[in-house]
Amino acid sequence: MIKLNRRVAELRPSATMAAEARATELKEAGVDVISLAAGEPDFDTPERIKKAAGQAMGAGQTKYTPVGGISRLKQAICLKLKRDNELDYETAEVMASAGGKQGAFNAIASLFDEGDEVIIPTPAWVSFAEMVRLSGAEPKLVPAAEAHGFRLTADDLRRALNAKSRGIIINSPCNPTGAVYGEDHLRAISQVLLEAGIWVLCDDVYEHMTYEARAPHLFKIEPRLKERGIVLNSLSKTYAMTGWRLGILAGPREVVTAVSRLQGQNSGNPNSIAQAAAIEALTGTQDEVAVMVGEFRTRRNFVVERIRSLPGFSLPNVPDGAFYAFPNVTPLLAAKWKGQALADGDGVARMLLDEAQVALVGGNDFGAPEHVRISYATSMTNLREAFDRVERVVRKMLGA
Ligand code: PLP
Repeated sequence: MIKLNRRVAELRPSATMAAEARATELKEAGVDVISLAAGEPDFDTPERIKKAAGQAMGAGQTKYTPVGGISRLKQAICLKLKRDNELDYETAEVMASAGGKQGAFNAIASLFDEGDEVIIPTPAWVSFAEMVRLSGAEPKLVPAAEAHGFRLTADDLRRALNAKSRGIIINSPCNPTGAVYGEDHLRAISQVLLEAGIWVLCDDVYEHMTYEARAPHLFKIEPRLKERGIVLNSLSKTYAMTGWRLGILAGPREVVTAVSRLQGQNSGNPNSIAQAAAIEALTGTQDEVAVMVGEFRTRRNFVVERIRSLPGFSLPNVPDGAFYAFPNVTPLLAAKWKGQALADGDGVARMLLDEAQVALVGGNDFGAPEHVRISYATSMTNLREAFDRVERVVRKMLGA
């Protein structure tokens, strides 16, 4: 067996990507699979953005650029942070990367080290803990109770802090729960964070996908946190640009310089054509975002209703943001399938893919094995058919 780098050898594959890949594989083999596993909008990138990319190509913007992006893009990022989040940043305090994922990893790798703990409220996006482990630090997974809307409370946070705590990653709206931290909640945890003096990484990639109220920014509510705060964002979800790979990051100048240095040695600048597209995305009309969010809201309402009428599924909180629902499937876990108990969310997902040809993601890698994640980034026709199939299978299984 080849001896790999220890941290890479221990790295877990992304559960969400694996679920989507399995669904695609089955579809290619001719199986009629409906995927509710996708972590990307099913809308196309707006035409104006594609046009800007075409023009950039035509104009020969096909060369290396500065590592953190061209200066017009950095100006556009500053404009976005002011317009959408009411945060003031200078161009030396922002940068672009090849997707939010790369920005998040490079920030984590730049800030944390062996012996450090980084708090991750769970359920959480599958990649955060792996990124922290890769940096040499330890993820400290802190459950955010479903009874509290899957939001970490000030008390949860106080209990999780210790002498090793060096950072926290807050993701609102949250993948996978759809939970949005409101102003009061953020104010309460901000006081604990200020006292703790740890790094606060805010992952805002779903910021525009909210269905009740806007997601306020923690650094706007408590500006003093900005001195030890990193904004992680991406064009992937807001502008349906997952394939373009354009992430954005903002933070103190010294950190941005370090992250750029790391990026300069591991990948270099983000794609030059995607940078031109990103300038148009960030500075042009923002109307398409509202249209997409309107459609997601309709689907969210439909999905909540269907989940709540499914035997074996419960969804006490209405997900207020992102495009996921994260129901509890505890009553299904004891059910037998192929002679064995389903045991956990991953087991339920495997069974539904086999029996209903519906792909979703088990909750195990999100830190909540009694749940499954359902993405509604697909058409209403697909959603209707998928829920009809799931309902038939679980009714039969539970004799309900
Ligand atoms: N953060 C969260 C919570 C996500 O769910 C994702 C993607 O699924 C990302 C960051 C990264 O997105 P990207 O790398 O496409 O910008």
